[in-house]
Amino acid sequence: MSEKKHECKSPNCSRKFDDKELELTGKEDKCILHCEKEKGWIDYLLDDIERISIKNADSRGRYFWEIIEKEKIRNKDYDFSYVIFPYFIDGGIFFDKDASYIFEKEVNFAKAIFMANVNFVNIIFEKKVNFKNVVFVEKVRFDKIYFKSGVDFKHSVFQKKAEFNSLKGAGKLNFEEVIINNKFHIMRLIKDNENIFEINFNDSEFFNNAYIEIYYCDLEVLSFRSILNGADKIVLNRIKINKILQLYDSNFNNLEVLGLDVTNGKCDFFNISIEKASFTNFQLDNYIDKFVYRGNDDRYYTRDIMRQFKSVFDRNGNIIESNRFYALEMKEREKELESDLKKGKNFFEWLIFKIHGISSNHSQDWLLALFWIIVFGFCFSLIKFYMITENDKFIHFHILSFLGIFLLILYGVWLNFISKKEGEIKSFFLLFYLYLVYVYETKDIFLNYFTSVINPFNKFSNMTLIDLLCKIIIAYLIYQLIISIRQNTRRK
Ligand SMILES: [Zn+2]
Repeated sequence: MSEKKHECKSPNCSRKFDDKELELTGKEDKCILHCEKEKGWIDYLLDDIERISIKNADSRGRYFWEIIEKEKIRNKDYDFSYVIFPYFIDGGIFFDKDASYIFEKEVNFAKAIFMANVNFVNIIFEKKVNFKNVVFVEKVRFDKIYFKSGVDFKHSVFQKKAEFNSLKGAGKLNFEEVIINNKFHIMRLIKDNENIFEINFNDSEFFNNAYIEIYYCDLEVLSFRSILNGADKIVLNRIKINKILQLYDSNFNNLEVLGLDVTNGKCDFFNISIEKASFTNFQLDNYIDKFVYRGNDDRYYTRDIMRQFKSVFDRNGNIIESNRFYALEMKEREKELESDLKKGKNFFEWLIFKIHGISSNHSQDWLLALFWIIVFGFCFSLIKFYMITENDKFIHFHILSFLGIFLLILYGVWLNFISKKEGEIKSFFLLFYLYLVYVYETKDIFLNYFTSVINPFNKFSNMTLIDLLCKIIIAYLIYQLIISIRQNTRRK
């Protein structure tokens, strides 16, 4: 056996090696584990010229994996830091065994480089696992892995497709500051007693080719904070969030949400912009109360999100969704104005907002505007009817019947108001009720007064103050009616 007179100078390594190994590494200060492996000694990429040296590449690879087996695995020395992993002769598989392999001690892959495809399959990590600052040059797959004490991928680089399937473990899947440049799938993290409960991508960078999909996961926390996002798409597919879905300080070019469940959790969106979004099987407005308010500074923040969603759907030509979010935005605006009002601010703004809401639900509901036109029409017709004079006397006006009618109308409006939720049927009955009251009092079965009151083209001469008021209100309502119809029928 030849003398081991060379020593590896790589950090965390002082392996001694002999001349035979030097022949393979070509460097006196780098052992077989830490020496550079051009193209990962990958044989399937070799062209004709390099094919000559394939035998050599083959033997280097074999020697590397023999050393790993002999010196690392057998001795349970799981320090793989700075190791440069080459292509593995049997399909680029690192540890792919039928029975699960158990790492009983801490495992350290910090700053390792995987030059070729790597599959981690069926492994139990009893203690902590460190994948910080690792570079995955080719595809990587983690399948049926049990991280008993969590796993950290902080600052790692995923150049090609990465797949995380059916992982278990108590703790976090930490993807802080990672760089993703290809397809990236996390799937089937199912809740049981020892599930992964948190995934975070904080301060990560998604390059143009990145496509992030998180599929069928039951999580406490999913967090995308301060992402530098050039990703093609981010897909959240059948995700259940039990605590918080956090989207912060990031730009989402294309966000696709398919069946998100936050029944037990919250959505915390802050300072994000969304270019394009689609939501399937997810009624965001069911979760409106799930949006988190924080501090005085961000109190308009939910409205901003709603407005963003509205404009996203506007751009996508989805008018129904867009209107829905507009209504939600208005609901938030109302909360803001009400809290302003409590501080004695913006009274008129609040008043106009309220009138806009009551008259047409902020130009969303043309039936509501029509409803009010008819209600005001009847009321003003009655008033006009009472004001008819003969010899300077009101011939129809009796204070008791006026009060009676007035109370009947108020009662009808109030009834309608408190039962607002069930909507149109009751409103229809109110209108019929008003008609009956009106006809009882005026005997104007064919609504001659009524039509003259609501006709905007009626003549303007000899107007009383009541007439003017009536004209303004009816004109405002007709305007709201037209705007609301337009809002509901615009198409792209
Ligand atoms: Zn070394």
